[in-house]
Parts: sequence; C-alpha cells; structure tokens
Amino acid sequence: MVDNVIAVRDIGKAFAGVQALDGITLEIAPGEIHCLAGENGSGKSTLIKVISGVHAPDTGTIELNGKTFSKLSPIEAISNGVQVIYQDFSVFPNLTVMENLALNAELAAHRTFVSWKRMRAVAEEAIAKINFTIDLDEKVGQLSVAQKQLVAISRALMSDAKLIIMDEPTTALTKREVDALFAIILDLKARGIATLFVSHKLDEVFEISERFTIIRNGKSVITCLPEELDHATFSHHMTGREFDDD
Ligand code: ADP
Ligand code: MG
Repeated sequence: MVDNVIAVRDIGKAFAGVQALDGITLEIAPGEIHCLAGENGSGKSTLIKVISGVHAPDTGTIELNGKTFSKLSPIEAISNGVQVIYQDFSVFPNLTVMENLALNAELAAHRTFVSWKRMRAVAEEAIAKINFTIDLDEKVGQLSVAQKQLVAISRALMSDAKLIIMDEPTTALTKREVDALFAIILDLKARGIATLFVSHKLDEVFEISERFTIIRNGKSVITCLPEELDHATFSHHMTGREFDDD
C-alpha cells in the first residue's frame, strides 16, 4: 500500500446556502506533483482551507502523517508537514527578505538579544534550499510576485514541509516566471516534497502534473494521469459541457 503524504476522504463543507464541497476524496503520494483542477467557484480554495486547518469540514476525514483528523487546526496542519504558499500576503512587505525568513525563528528562540549575524546565516540556509538568488536585504514589498512566492517557499521549507500547496500561483506571473516556478516544483519533488498545485488552466495542469484531480461543483469528478485524458475530455469534466477537440 502506498503511504500517502495526505489522504482526504469524503470532505463536505457548506456555507450559508452553498454546498462548497460535496464529497471530495484526494490522495497525494510523497513527492508527487498533484494538480487540483476546477473552474472558478468549484471549491478549490475551500478544499485548501480545509486541508490547512482554516475551515473545519462538516463531513469527512483528513489523514496526515499517520493520524486521522475530522478537523484540523492550522498548527496541526503545519506541524504535520502541510504548508500553503499564498499569493502575496504570507510575507511581510516592510521587512527584508532576511527578516521574513529568519525573524520568527530568532524570536521564538527567546534569546536576550536578536543576532543579525545568526539571522543572516539562517536566511542564507533557507534560500539555499531552493535554487535561486536574491538580495537578503531587499524589502519584500519591493519584490515581484514571483520572488515573493520563492521567499514563501523557502520559508515553508524551513519547517520540514512534506506537502506544499500553491493556490493558483501563476495568476500574476510571466511565462518565464512560471517556468522558474515549475523548475522549483521539480526540485522539491527530487527531495521528496509533494506539491498540490491548484489551477484552472489546462495547459499548466498538463505541463506540470504527474496526476490530477478535477473537481466540479464541490465534487471530485476524476483523478487520473495526464496521458489518460485528452484535452476535450478534460474541459468536459471541468465544465460539464461538451467540447470539440480541434
Ligand atoms: P475556487 O477556489 O474553486 O474558485 P472557492 O472554494 O473559493 O472556489 O468557492 C467555492 C464556493 O464556495 C463558491 O460558490 C464560493 O462563493 C463559496 N464560498 C467560498 N468561501 C465562502 C465563504 N467564506 N462564505 C460563503 N461562501 C463561500
Ligand atoms: Mg480559489
């Protein structure tokens, strides 16, 4: 039996009047690049919030790290290896790259004074975990969205992440930045870290995923390998409408 990094079973979640999730099942293997595909409003972000402990599900379970949760706190999600990379707001714009990477750990250590030298070493080590170069003294607010994401990924790796979740990370990226992000996702894979890559863009899903799950109206439609589905069938599963493949 495959040991999953996460298994989500039969998750349901309703908001006043809206059944956002209606029986979602999803398994991700260690190091797997798994895409969660679905149109706007299909429930992707809600599922991520359930997996990361932001929302408690009404039904279903989340298996993480050998434990089964019927609801999960954000701390439990993080301490069991789940990290979410948000578009912009997970980094502090007025702090430098170094501070964003190393200040939490430095403060958590409860030392009598803050050592900037130690923080620089911690930040350098964090950045070295992914293959990119950046000025540690730059204010994060001055960085591009792509650079901010990379800082957030470095920071996520400091806490021993097993699964990195990216919710529509390419929305504000250029093609070149998307390529750089994909290279980093492959690099994470090489080190056994799984990615859940959320997207509504067919091209991206086919380019980066090893396996994908399509959801529609809060329901899992299909989980398969890219080579198992042609583009027209993919679009059909996403939208529920028929498409001509030409
Ligand atoms: P996606 O990320 O796939 O675009 P969402 O998970 O954001 O979809 O939304 C799924 C459905 O749940 C939508 O109909 C959305 O309006 C609804 N929804 C999401 N969050 C809330 C909320 N906090 N309160 C009420 N409805 C919500
Ligand atoms: Mg969303």
